[in-house]
Amino acid sequence: MERLNLSAAFTEGQDFRDKIKAFSGVDVKDCYQCGKCTAGCPVAFAMDYTPRQVMRLLQLGLKEEALKCRSIWLCAHCETCYARCPKEIDLAKVMEALRIEAKGLGYVPEKNINLFNDLFLESVEKYGRVHEMGLILNFNLRSGQPFKDAGLGPKLLSNGKIHITAEKIEDNGAVKRIFENVRRMGGEVE
Ligand code: SF4
Ligand code: SF4
Repeated sequence: MERLNLSAAFTEGQDFRDKIKAFSGVDVKDCYQCGKCTAGCPVAFAMDYTPRQVMRLLQLGLKEEALKCRSIWLCAHCETCYARCPKEIDLAKVMEALRIEAKGLGYVPEKNINLFNDLFLESVEKYGRVHEMGLILNFNLRSGQPFKDAGLGPKLLSNGKIHITAEKIEDNGAVKRIFENVRRMGGEVE
């Protein structure tokens, strides 16, 4: 039977914790597992690991489990956990760091959430703000549900909630430069 190399597992876990810290500014060892984040999280009910459990996976060096869990894709970045945490841990940033790392490794269990994020950023880069109608149509087509929301379209259009043509902001170049800078710094914008 293959023996577990605890020393190697610990070193790998520490390397990963350092990486998460470099991206998010959070030292996962600071979490004392009180669970206040989970108690306030509006999407914890749908997660496979609650926010507190995600922190525990990282503390234990269970990198693969953390990177493959659905929770990191379901996190809405509402920051309720951050506001409630007695240790001021910014869990949304930890979730984001995990999502970027997971995506880089090809672990994308929530394909539609990933697609929506990409299309949202694409629209903001192009117009300086999101074009809601284009985003909805594009997302529905590319996620294989072309008629989803079709019934809502006329009502939203007549109420002026969505527009057929995209409106560009005044200085769209500034937004494009932000995207270029993020890419230059190795950031994830698609
Ligand atoms: S609220 Fe903060 S300290 Fe408590 S479990 Fe969540 S992250 Fe850890
Ligand atoms: S930021 Fe994410 S993990 Fe934190 S409360 Fe909001 S949805 Fe939950």
